[in-house]
Amino acid sequence: MLADNSVLVIGAGIFGLTAALELRQRGYRVTVADPGPVPHPLAASNDVSRMVRLDYGADGLYSSLGAEAIEGWHRWNARWGRDLYHEDGFLLMTSVPMASGSFEQDSYSLLTERGFPIEKLLAGDLASRYPHWNADHYIDGYFNPRAGWAAAAEITAALAHDAIDSGVSIVTGFAATRLVQNGDRVTGAAASDGRELLAEWVLVAAGVWTTVLLPDLADRMWPVGQPIFYFKPSNPENYRAPSFPPWGADIPRTGWYGFPANCEGVVKMANHGPGRRVHPDADRLTLPEQEAHCRAFLAESLPSLAALPLYGSKMCLYCDTWDGDFWIGRDPARQGLVVSTGGSGHAFKFGPVLGGLAADALEGIENPYTKRFAWRSLGELKSEEIRYTGE
Ligand SMILES: Cc1cc2nc3c(=O)[nH]c(=O)nc-3n(C[C@H](O)[C@H](O)[C@H](O)COP(=O)(O)OP(=O)(O)OC[C@H]3O[C@@H](n4cnc5c(N)ncnc54)[C@H](O)[C@@H]3O)c2cc1C
Repeated sequence: MLADNSVLVIGAGIFGLTAALELRQRGYRVTVADPGPVPHPLAASNDVSRMVRLDYGADGLYSSLGAEAIEGWHRWNARWGRDLYHEDGFLLMTSVPMASGSFEQDSYSLLTERGFPIEKLLAGDLASRYPHWNADHYIDGYFNPRAGWAAAAEITAALAHDAIDSGVSIVTGFAATRLVQNGDRVTGAAASDGRELLAEWVLVAAGVWTTVLLPDLADRMWPVGQPIFYFKPSNPENYRAPSFPPWGADIPRTGWYGFPANCEGVVKMANHGPGRRVHPDADRLTLPEQEAHCRAFLAESLPSLAALPLYGSKMCLYCDTWDGDFWIGRDPARQGLVVSTGGSGHAFKFGPVLGGLAADALEGIENPYTKRFAWRSLGELKSEEIRYTGE
């Protein structure tokens, strides 16, 4: 065993890079291995945008973590000297009155109780403030100003630079094919060409590829394909906040959510639904019926985009855990092994706090989130809280 405070992080997505940065700050010698380039073209952390919000129904734990993360996004913007997190707010619309026990009403109640200045939509607000939306269809909802979107690919690239600047070594061209073990202790990882990277600790953060390296976890997490669609209107300035903030439209019932136009004028929308279980290396193509589903939604909800040609589309893979909670913990059976993954379609927003959670897991430090995200058996529920996951 190498008793030298060294950590090998496998995977340079948001989980891996934030863990590397935090561990480096705590005094470890950190190497990150990834097939590269970083951000990897197929990584979930590599896309134009990711939603940042703390609206999690009655689930106070994720809402608290989201509030901590938003403080972190502002710190990162200041550190980078440019806004890669855009606090444009979050518009939640419903086609039915918000009822007690619904995701929307529970989010509204919890956030209001916690003192966030949530603006309930009153009759006429949708038509006057957010005129792209069909105000005959969406009759209720609210606007949360403490939310926004993160320029995911740019952030992942910025974190890789920060990691290198802080002394982390990023080794690209290294796709781990197996863990190296000495008895029950994990001591490194090997690539298909026989190269080995050895360390005192191995932290696997390989997103949907985690179970390729750790097949014994395949009953508790798996890749699920979700469609994303991109449009490029001729007047992108009309599709930006304040009149077109990040949005969710009947999310628990339809799964549709989306973003304002980015700096290239691209408007993105996506569906959070059951998805399809796929292999991590499956083609990342959307299906014709998924585009038809998207267009039917637009015709009913956002008619000004409905007739535009598709600018692009792709299937993006969630690493879904069986209970929708992240997986950030030490393996109780193999010494020296930590896994930080299981984003379940909603982890990017927590980027500024993920590294701390992973480093705490490695060091055995308890925090309020330890139990919920711990290494766990199938069927083991950590709390009775209502679960809502989503983008
Ligand atoms: C369609 C879609 C929409 C989403 N929307 C949102 C949203 O709006 N808000 C939000 O908060 N979250 C969202 N998410 C979730 C979020 O993007 C993910 O939870 C998060 O990016 C996962 O990060 P990761 O580091 O686990 O994985 P990844 O970003 O996929 O990184 C894994 C890395 O591991 C590397 N790797 C793989 N195999 C190996 C190996 N053998 N050896 C070495 N390296 C390896 C890969 O190259 C990759 O760089 C969405 C996800 C998807 C797919």
